[in-house]
Amino acid sequence: MSGANEQTPAGRGRVLAVANQKGGVGKTTTAINLGTALAASGRSVLIVDLDSQGNASTGLGIERSARKVTSYQILLGEAGFDEAVTGTAVPGLDIVPATVDLAAVEVELVNDPQRGYRLRRAFASLTKAYDHVLIDCPPSLGLLTINALAAAHAVLVPLQCEFFALEGLSQLLKTVERVRKTLNPVLQVHGIVLTMYDRRNNLSSQVASDVRSFMGERVYETVIPRNVRISEAPSHGLPVLLYDVKSLGAQAYAHLAGEMLRRDRQLAA
Ligand code: ADP
Ligand code: MG
Repeated sequence: MSGANEQTPAGRGRVLAVANQKGGVGKTTTAINLGTALAASGRSVLIVDLDSQGNASTGLGIERSARKVTSYQILLGEAGFDEAVTGTAVPGLDIVPATVDLAAVEVELVNDPQRGYRLRRAFASLTKAYDHVLIDCPPSLGLLTINALAAAHAVLVPLQCEFFALEGLSQLLKTVERVRKTLNPVLQVHGIVLTMYDRRNNLSSQVASDVRSFMGERVYETVIPRNVRISEAPSHGLPVLLYDVKSLGAQAYAHLAGEMLRRDRQLAA
């Protein structure tokens, strides 16, 4: 492909891939709640649900019957972004929903030598300019996550404070490095956010300090605590910032948004 930079969706917002090949580490929770916190601070935000489980879509109250045009059609080139964008209950926050169809994409695109660029190319069909685009990745380093990394300016890695956290992280960082060398030379690691931190648990604080000494400044100061309100919110189709704005979980995501915006300015400088 000529000039890998030409398709970077610059001018249509900062594109952030929320990625970690492990499931259940807080990717979707972070995409939804960081997106909501950014929207609450007056930014326009688009979440792209790139997981066939569609948890970001469900968590933002998009019924399955309302998911007419999805990220699947975008990746297959059957629809453009504008047709897929759906509003949410959060002012300023839109989503491109996902359905279970997405699970077949890897097989369906197997003969396309440019298959890693599908999402990045499709961004050309997005006419609305967003301040931030957050891509909620599936729990694997397969084609969907590669598409997200190829389309993004930076990657945000939620890391659960548990024993094997660092092991998975080095594999992810190797993938990021490979994508930078091949598909997307501008890709940066925006940061690592520690999630589900339990301050009563010694393992949590041990892992947090190991990750900080290994990754240094790339780890956000903001730590997302384990908080029951965060886990309850999706079943109401709401981000925790709408479900219970005073909860520690909501406050932590608001704080993360502030820190992220400061870091964005540093990375852009
Ligand atoms: P992933 O997208 O990485 O698979 P999720 O964001 O779906 O992970 O989180 C996995 C589960 O953990 C979900 O049920 C979610 O509600 C819950 N969860 C995520 N973050 C927290 C938290 N900080 N406190 C409590 N529960 C959380
Ligand atoms: Mg998820």
